[in-house]
Amino acid sequence: MTKPRIFHVAIPSVPFFEFFDYLAPNDSTLEPLRAGIRLEVPFGKRTKIAFLMATSFECHYPLEKLKPILRVIDNEPLLGDLDLQLLHWVSSYYHHPIGEVMSAAFPIALRQGKEAVIKKMPASRENEKTSNPIVCNPAQQHAIDEITHSLWKFGVYLLDGVTGSGKTEVYMQLIQTVLDKKQQVLVLVPEITLTPQLQERFESRFNTLIAISHSKLTDTQRKNAWLLMQSGACSLLLGTRSALFTPMPRLGLIILDEEHDSSFKQQEGFRFSARDVAIMRGKFTHIPVLLGSATPSLESLYNVNQARYHHLPLPERAGDALPPIIDIIDIRQQKLQEGLSPILLSEMHLTLARNEQVLLFLNRRGFAPTLMCNECGWVARCVHCDANLVIHRHQSLLRCHHCGTEHRLINTCPACQMHNLVSIGLGTERIESVLASLFADKTVIRLDRDSTSHKGSLEDYLAQIHAGEAHIILGTQLLAKGHHFPNVTLVAILDVDSGLFSTDFHSGEKLAQLIVQVSGRAGREQKQGKVMLQTRQPAHPLLVELLRDGYSRFATLALQERELAKLPPFSYQALFRAHSEKEEVPANFLQSVADLAQTVNESHVQILGPIPAPMARRAGQYRYQLLLQHESRNGLHHLLRQLVPLIGGLNARQKVRWSIDVDPVDLF
Ligand code: ADP
Ligand code: ZN
Ligand code: ZN
Repeated sequence: MTKPRIFHVAIPSVPFFEFFDYLAPNDSTLEPLRAGIRLEVPFGKRTKIAFLMATSFECHYPLEKLKPILRVIDNEPLLGDLDLQLLHWVSSYYHHPIGEVMSAAFPIALRQGKEAVIKKMPASRENEKTSNPIVCNPAQQHAIDEITHSLWKFGVYLLDGVTGSGKTEVYMQLIQTVLDKKQQVLVLVPEITLTPQLQERFESRFNTLIAISHSKLTDTQRKNAWLLMQSGACSLLLGTRSALFTPMPRLGLIILDEEHDSSFKQQEGFRFSARDVAIMRGKFTHIPVLLGSATPSLESLYNVNQARYHHLPLPERAGDALPPIIDIIDIRQQKLQEGLSPILLSEMHLTLARNEQVLLFLNRRGFAPTLMCNECGWVARCVHCDANLVIHRHQSLLRCHHCGTEHRLINTCPACQMHNLVSIGLGTERIESVLASLFADKTVIRLDRDSTSHKGSLEDYLAQIHAGEAHIILGTQLLAKGHHFPNVTLVAILDVDSGLFSTDFHSGEKLAQLIVQVSGRAGREQKQGKVMLQTRQPAHPLLVELLRDGYSRFATLALQERELAKLPPFSYQALFRAHSEKEEVPANFLQSVADLAQTVNESHVQILGPIPAPMARRAGQYRYQLLLQHESRNGLHHLLRQLVPLIGGLNARQKVRWSIDVDPVDLF
């Protein structure tokens, strides 16, 4: 009797690492089914959309228990062999179930089994004129030549150029070259808000259709972008992290802008690094991967030092633009007006009088981070989290920024019944209100997650800023990313100190990047910018070194510190996190994981913990973590490969929610 063919499929939303086996569909008059197609299969009492990964004559289950495939959805594979190879690699590297990895590679509409066709093809774009390439300076030209000469070869290139040094121009000239060769290009940015400005520049440069993919688009839009690239009908895709897995049969170049940005790392569920996976994709596809940043990550600089990446520095601002002047403002013993020092205020007046714009950065939304009783010292805390409630005065609310709990804003102390509650600390709302009184005739725009929660509002604000209708722009993290505001000549970071004292070893790097990135918003083209950093730690080595010697010297010193402490990139980490309503549950679970790890720890991986997470309680859940660290990636992964399947056998597993984070970018 001949053995039947067995179909090995991946099924989304089931936490298993193995494939599931099925038999051929009953009406098996079909062509031989190929890996990369979608199927509908029976699963328990329901049916599921699954992905065919492989076929063979091997079966790990009793044959008589296998069920036939119910329906074949695609005639042709939607994914190519390289796509499948990459997804396999990703599943094993991140120790994440293959079904979930597969579903991350598909837009929702296709995951639901919708037909893989574009209902309405977009009209091809013939550009009404295109902007011409700029004549590049020697550093830009060198970068372009290096990559152009190695186009059909894997290589990672770090375009290390200050803001305004012409990185985007380098991207665009390389994209043109690759498009001329009829190949496809993938461009990734860390934030949705950065897509419109790049899209605009691409549209005015290239005479080709541009597909856009990010999570704010409709399911149909995302499906269309995916199919446009997958079918080869479109050659240029601009998107965020989630666009990374879009299949592209003729991929010739991957560009990742702002490569240092931690938004490239997915922080929940499938915790992959879009940067690292993009590099792997480049490797499998034999094409160059270009990483760009004004503040490269320590990992990437380390890889340059190890001669694994090519370094392409752009040391100067392009054209005639001058670098900004950066001043430390010592605010100790100064009389501040709601956080604004006299010297900053007078500089703001001068700037506004020249009809130029001011940008103020404060990474804290709301009115104030703490409500305290001046009589008895009571503080408004979240009952579900180890955190204070933040005052949102506009909405008259106290809100927890970690679990979303809200209470009406009160004016009587619940502990002593006195009416002496004070708002402590600064949030963007508070600065906004003082600006309204100090600069009554000026327009202030506040950009933070609260003010931009409505769809389109961020775009409207950005348009107002560009049209010169806003005089003072005040905002959070949103402003630190690569937005170009050519008329902003004064930038101030109101509270540098909040970043100086964190327990996470990444925080120094993040703060330095933030300072340089925010400073990069000051001055463009013919207008020299000025940057003011308000601090009570004017002699802090990080600030002093960074301002005196620049980011690259800072990075060299920071790498030396990491080397001494044997921290990444001089070692490799994986972080197990667990949480539960009962405190002992995650602690015991991770202790069992640590014990199991010891039994298979041939490579002598350091096993640190379990310890409570820095925020030990969030949304009513007690949180613990267990850190594994080893000087070699292989050593760490050797342990993980043995350990993760064993965890499946732990009884405690059922009572706890846990995850594994390979190469964590923060330890919270
Ligand atoms: P980045 O991406 O590094 O911030 P851009 O590519 O946006 O820099 O360039 C900043 C500005 O300088 C843009 O207005 C761009 O058109 C201009 N520019 C880029 N390269 C040159 C050059 N070689 N000569 C003159 N201007 C340039
Ligand atoms: Zn009180
Ligand atoms: Zn809370």
